[in-house]
Amino acid sequence: MAVIVNPHPSSNPSGVELGPARAITYLRISITDRCNLRCQYCMPEDQTFFERDSVLSFEEISAIARHLVARGVDKIRITGGEPLVRREVVALVEMLRGLSDDLQLVMTTNAMLFERHARDLRAAGLDRINVSLDTLRADRFEQLARRPGLDAALAGIDAAHAAGFENTKTNMVVMGGINDDEIPAMLDFAAERGIEQRFLEFMPLTSNDYGVRAERVPVGEIRRRIEAHGGTLVPRTKGSGPADTFVLERTGQKVGIIAAISLPFCETCNRVRLTADGRLRSCLFEGGEVQVRDLLRSTPTADHARVLDETLDYLSRVKPPVHDGLGHVQMNQVGG
Ligand code: SAM
Ligand code: SF4
Repeated sequence: MAVIVNPHPSSNPSGVELGPARAITYLRISITDRCNLRCQYCMPEDQTFFERDSVLSFEEISAIARHLVARGVDKIRITGGEPLVRREVVALVEMLRGLSDDLQLVMTTNAMLFERHARDLRAAGLDRINVSLDTLRADRFEQLARRPGLDAALAGIDAAHAAGFENTKTNMVVMGGINDDEIPAMLDFAAERGIEQRFLEFMPLTSNDYGVRAERVPVGEIRRRIEAHGGTLVPRTKGSGPADTFVLERTGQKVGIIAAISLPFCETCNRVRLTADGRLRSCLFEGGEVQVRDLLRSTPTADHARVLDETLDYLSRVKPPVHDGLGHVQMNQVGG
């Protein structure tokens, strides 16, 4: 099979090294690279988006997902870009839910359009959402995202609760000198709503223009500031995800810290990513990728299972032992 493999040249100059096969149980799908925001760490203001016919249709996404679920994937995250700007997103949720009742079906969203869709998404079978929220200050939100939207995002979070979504998480990318003074406010915000608050390390990406201005806040410092505000962090059993998870001893509030750069979780990574334009990737940062859209569009349907089997086998062996910590990717395409 002619796979199209694009390991990043600087991370793998001598070709692709195949490691032992890993079980892949988690698929993250960027269903669109488009977004109603232009967060400075994610994409440039003048971002050019994929042509519409290069983006996978719902039928193509669903067929790829069906195969991966049959091969052992038990969790799918719908992400983007902003997944809710894709028309008929509820129909896609229904299609993915139809693959298996046992599938964990979750979404990462900026929540600005969630109020409009909350009940339909719940009815369609979406289990849970993670909301990206870096600030509770409207002026700062507009500066960071280059668009206003805080009120809509907050309304989206409340609508999720009203529609019956449980175990919602809010994710804050901590950027030194930009929003790190809001760690206490974010903890309070989440505590008032019974939401798990997670703090994410900023990832330097080729496309972002915060690289030089955002100071890195070391994980130890994030912990210190959480504890200064909320009391002792007590570790709780780590889930399958990348977060180190805690409860605040005094209040029982759940907190997570994700340090993808300083404490990479590559060794135990069980995920693959499907980009909006149909590339299956082994890693956010590097590793290999296979342009399955083109392979599937140019291959008879009877051969699709073989193409996807070979792709998955390849990707499960080409995951980097540890990523190089540099973002050569565009987050909205690959699905952060
Ligand atoms: N639009 C949706 C959202 O913002 O939740 C989903 C897609 S967005 C690319 C997914 C996540 O990637 C968000 O939580 C965002 O904060 C994160 N992200 C984007 N660029 C990042 C960077 N340079 N460092 C860390 N996280 C980043
Ligand atoms: Fe859009 Fe999410 Fe990227 Fe912000 S982080 S520009 S909301 S895709």
